[in-house]
Order: sequence, then C-alpha cells, then structure tokens
Amino acid sequence: MYLKSIEIHGFKSFANRIKLDFHNGITGIVGPNGSGKSNVADAVRWVLGEQRARQLRGGSMQDVIFSGTELRKPLGFAYVSITLDNSDHALSIDFEEVTVSRRLYRSGESEYMINNSPCRLKDINELFYDTGIGKEGYSIIGQGQIDQILSSKPEDRRNLFDEAAGIVKFKLRKETAIKKLEDEKLNLTRITDILTELE
Ligand code: ATP
Repeated sequence: MYLKSIEIHGFKSFANRIKLDFHNGITGIVGPNGSGKSNVADAVRWVLGEQRARQLRGGSMQDVIFSGTELRKPLGFAYVSITLDNSDHALSIDFEEVTVSRRLYRSGESEYMINNSPCRLKDINELFYDTGIGKEGYSIIGQGQIDQILSSKPEDRRNLFDEAAGIVKFKLRKETAIKKLEDEKLNLTRITDILTELE
C-alpha cells in the first residue's frame, strides 16, 4: 500500500484545486519557508479524521479553510482527498485503490467519503486501525512530534506500540464487548426485579 495522490482544494494556503501524484518510493516536497509544505502533511492528517485543531496548528477546525489573502477572497469550504494503492489489500476493503475524502464548510457541516460513498468518521477510523496510517498512526511524524513522543506519559506512548503491534482493533472490540456485557447485566437485574414483583 502506498499513497498515490492527494487532491486539495480550499485547505489552508491551497485556494486553487491542486493534485499531487506520488510514486512507490521516496518523494520530497521542497519549497521556501511558508510555501505550504507542512500544510500538505496537515491535509493528509486532516483527511484521515484528525479532530484536534491544535494538531493541525490551528485554533479551531474552521482555521483549515482558506482564509483569503490581499488578492483573494476567503473560501467557504476545505476539501482534501487521498488515494491509496491497495493492491496488496493491506486495507481490508475489496478495492485495489481506495480514495478517502473529507469536506468541511464554514457552517461546521462536514462530510466524509470512502470511494465516493458517504461514510462516518468511524468508518474511516476503522479502515485504518492497525495500519499505522490513521490519525493516531506513526506514518506521519509532524514537526516537534518526536520530542512530544519521547516526553509523553508511558500510557500515551503505549498507544503507538499498540498500533504498531496491530492490536488496536482487538482492544476496541474488547471494550465494545465489555460494554455490551454490562448492558446485559443491567437488563438481567431489571428482569429479576420484575419477576420478583410478579411472584
Ligand atoms: P516552513 O518551511 O517554514 O516550515 P512550510 O512550507 O512548511 O514552511 P506551511 O507551514 O505549510 O509552510 O504554510 C504556512 C503558510 O500557510 C502561511 O503562509 C500561512 O499564512 C498559510 N496558511 C495557513 N492556514 C491558512 C488558511 N486557513 N488560509 C490561508 N493561508 C493559510
């Protein structure tokens, strides 16, 4: 699996629609300070479901929408889509190519899509669990993040190892099963109470 392309429109400094094609190998993005290199990495993190504006170097999520320049009016939405080669089926979805996209309007309304079908953020999170690619993944290491990882609490650092070991989805399934069991225990208690009243 590798990143084939990214399409950006209205996200941060990218007012015009741009498409970057990548190939299987190493790609470097070069440019002067402030030209938008980190914004490309932010776009990848955002489309993968990042919900924390601070991780995207902003104050609020609306800060990712192109805010205008002296010569250009602000835009009303931000759009990013990434296409991944999935010919090795590293992502458990029955497609050779997977496109994930996200759009956010100034009103706060947002939408996510997988291969052009609307989906929930949860679906995107689940698609990338244990691949190292999701928003918590280690495949995007931002500026200053290494220091952050080294100085983070052991429990937080553990999440990174869990993701690399591929056990996040099992931990989540376990949590869901425990929650269901607790709900069922409550139901049983209620039924026992009703039965006692009836006797
Ligand atoms: P450096 O080499 O210094 O790290 P860089 O090439 O990584 O720089 P970025 O940090 O990606 O640059 O881009 C910063 C630019 O993006 C700034 O000029 C900033 O004004 C612009 N920018 C960020 N958010 C928005 C936005 N919502 N609308 C318009 N421009 C934005």
